Amino acid sequence: MKSAKQRIGEIIAVLYKAYPKSRTVLRFESPHQILVATILSAQCTDERVNQITPSLFKKHPTPHDFASADPKVLEMEIKSTGFFRNKTKSIIGASKKIVEDFDGAVPDNMEDLLTLPGVARKTANIVLSSAFQKAEGIAVDTHVKRLSQRLGLSKENVPDKIEQDLIAIVPKKDWIDFNYMLVLHGRRVCPSRKPRCPECQLRHLCPSASEFYPENELNIPKSFR
Ligand code: SF4
Repeated sequence: MKSAKQRIGEIIAVLYKAYPKSRTVLRFESPHQILVATILSAQCTDERVNQITPSLFKKHPTPHDFASADPKVLEMEIKSTGFFRNKTKSIIGASKKIVEDFDGAVPDNMEDLLTLPGVARKTANIVLSSAFQKAEGIAVDTHVKRLSQRLGLSKENVPDKIEQDLIAIVPKKDWIDFNYMLVLHGRRVCPSRKPRCPECQLRHLCPSASEFYPENELNIPKSFR
């Protein structure tokens, strides 16, 4: 199999064809709302987050409202998303910092976003791409991590290191889409358990396909072997 650098162009082309208009499914109407929704989405499905955010954002329409929220009340409001105590601390802490240090506006750069409590590079990348259409990196969530490893794009295990490997080979113009496309591909074709390699459009470009299925089931044309 060719190197990651030699395969990445074709991998991206296949993904664009399969997922032409991929975007986050988290619902939001402001940079602060996507920040809160992304914090809530950790270890939780986007669908579950979308179920609770309409009433949550109605009750707390601004960063000031979240900054002054009663932690015990907020914990109950977001309980169904899991890890609600830590998420409450992050949401209130980040909102306070935004109010006190950034005049109530979510910062639009990586350096300042990383100063917010509970915000690491994955969340910052999602806020930058979704709210500001800015690419300062590639968000590495559980799907991007798994797919990057299976596709042989990174041998690393730590998200920040995987991100650096991806940044080195994925053209900058594709950074934002690459995250969304891998997330969709992970959900639809390559889940953690039982990847569906025989129907995967990337199987001729993926070194892991032959680890999951025998060659006769993969049905890869000879020209790709
Ligand atoms: Fe995942 Fe299999 Fe596709 Fe590779 S070939 S990306 S392991 S589904």
